[in-house]
Amino acid sequence: MVFSVFRFGDYLSEYFVCTGCALLCDDIEVDVQENRINTVNAACRKGVARMKGCTDPLVCTVDGKEEGIDKAVQKAASILRDAKNPLIFGHGNSSSEAQKLSIDLAKMTGAYIDDTSSFCQGPLVEAILQEKLKTCTLDDVRHRADVIIFWGADPSNSHPRHLSRYSYYPRGKERQRGWEEDRTLISIDIRRSDTALLCKDERFYRIPISGDAEFMEALVSSLSGKVPKTSFDYEKKRILELSNVLRKAKFGVICAGLGLVYSLEQLDPLFKLMDKLNELSDFHLIPMVGQYNMRGFNHNLFEETGYINRLKFDPQNDEPLHGPEYSIVETLYNKKVDAALIIGSDPLSSLPYSIAQNLKDIPLITIDPCQTLTASRSTVTIPCALGGVEADGTAVRMDGAEVTLKKIIKTDRLTDHEILKMIMEAI
Ligand code: SF4
Repeated sequence: MVFSVFRFGDYLSEYFVCTGCALLCDDIEVDVQENRINTVNAACRKGVARMKGCTDPLVCTVDGKEEGIDKAVQKAASILRDAKNPLIFGHGNSSSEAQKLSIDLAKMTGAYIDDTSSFCQGPLVEAILQEKLKTCTLDDVRHRADVIIFWGADPSNSHPRHLSRYSYYPRGKERQRGWEEDRTLISIDIRRSDTALLCKDERFYRIPISGDAEFMEALVSSLSGKVPKTSFDYEKKRILELSNVLRKAKFGVICAGLGLVYSLEQLDPLFKLMDKLNELSDFHLIPMVGQYNMRGFNHNLFEETGYINRLKFDPQNDEPLHGPEYSIVETLYNKKVDAALIIGSDPLSSLPYSIAQNLKDIPLITIDPCQTLTASRSTVTIPCALGGVEADGTAVRMDGAEVTLKKIIKTDRLTDHEILKMIMEAI
């Protein structure tokens, strides 16, 4: 029998959150038939794919053989109990509730704990939490921003509804004339991305690879009334034009992508640019976080320890060890880890092979809704419910706003935090 869980009247009034990226769009409508999501409205293509679930769901296994959850939990507990230096990694696609338990588990087992921010947006999130960079919410951007810069970011592909929901197309309280007259869209990038195409030639600034710091310094000079100089011989007139637009902004925002983060060896040039912009105008920065709850992990760990990633807990010591040497990259490279629990992530796919291959030599436990490359090499795999679709929870949006996730369909699978709780009890 086919039936809809949400009647037509509910269909319009009930909104759900998409966990396809850290924009966490909260205006998603769904039609459910026989406990399956039939239609998803308002989400982008990426979001629809996420909300319709895994094409290849993870199966509960121990040593490659299908097993019940109890046996898998017991095996996971014994691996972590026996390990001297376990690693707990992932968390970008986990609920905040699971992340907090992960931190407790790391304390209990004296584990290294890290997440993807340690090789992507971590420095920017850390600077924001330490109040070294001025930020704002996406709602501020929608209602107030008149100058929007995508620096090393291409939201048209990475966060497909960023421009339509928040940054460019919507009419906001103070931006009633919208993109046609009220907003200036700027792209600074090493290539003409789909977002750069929207800026046309006039507001697209192509910079050379690793030229971000120099371009920032040239902008600071220009904003200070000096002649801008760059070693890559950029047209001075264009830098002066850009600095004039920035100087006149009423509410500016830099949406910082991975292109910017990877290009800067340290954040000083960005701090100087933000300071100068805020002497003359009102400028904010939002990191273009990818995974839906990466920022949640940074917030939760920061609240607990004062650090956002790259930690090792020592059961004999209250103070955790922190630094680059405790990151997943360094610990794997130096073969310091003797077991790993991977939750809501796929490091074998995302890390360079020379680093990731060291995961293959140690016992691995994977908790994830979907089959991944890391799961295919794991000693224990435990499927969990898909956040925001099969499980309730909370998450932190890319701008730091906390968002509540409501489950849409029922599942027999446990949530990520229920599984972690069972492992902790078994240990
Ligand atoms: S932009 Fe991100 S959060 Fe919004 S619908 Fe698309 S994938 Fe989902």
